[in-house]
Amino acid sequence: PGNGPSTPGRRRLGVMGGTFDPIHNGHLVAAQEVAAQFGLDEVVFVPTGQPWQKSHRSVSAAEDRYLMTVIATAENPQFSVSRIDIDRRGLTYTIDTLRELHQLNPDTDLFFITGADALAQILTWRDAEELFSLAHFIGVTRPGHTLHDPGLPAGGVSLVEVPALAISSTDCRARVAKGDPVWYLVPDGVVRYIDKRQLYRGE
Ligand code: ATP
Ligand code: MG
Repeated sequence: PGNGPSTPGRRRLGVMGGTFDPIHNGHLVAAQEVAAQFGLDEVVFVPTGQPWQKSHRSVSAAEDRYLMTVIATAENPQFSVSRIDIDRRGLTYTIDTLRELHQLNPDTDLFFITGADALAQILTWRDAEELFSLAHFIGVTRPGHTLHDPGLPAGGVSLVEVPALAISSTDCRARVAKGDPVWYLVPDGVVRYIDKRQLYRGE
């Protein structure tokens, strides 16, 4: 992989993993910016199964998170959504996601897109060596998280500045719980889906 000229015949696929509880415009802008800067053919959003980092709080049903991700990305021909993590039993590990996507997509270079906050923890992930052999890692800035080189293998990681959007799913959930609006923080269809399913009311 890498940031250089495309290898002829090899598809460039971005992989945006996340809890997406709910998906918000920060996720979408980050995916768009990385796709443009790295000349990606497509970005696949992969909602997690039960995320191991978040086992302390209850996460919305996988099906709700999956459907919100579909609604948010449906209009963009470059975006798609994969069920691989929500259909796999047990906790989600990035290594399993990348192994499966690698098998499903031969002749494809994978670019794993993650927030700078997650990138900082990257060395604590299981199987770090294999991770870097399966995908190029792209850390995107987000407000409140300083972008620094965490001392990762040379060439395996790129850092990308995205237009700053101080949006997080945590903040969106808190706003809904308080009755504050989330219009323009998440796509319109996601606002309506949250309302229809009465998500985040009791938090
Ligand atoms: P939560 O507040 O529940 O942790 P979140 O907003 O961080 O949710 P996740 O689903 O955990 O959303 O995020 C998926 C990925 O998107 C992570 O790598 C995260 O760092 C990144 N991300 C989230 N919000 C932004 C944003 N505003 N700008 C850039 N990247 C973001
Ligand atoms: Mg997060």
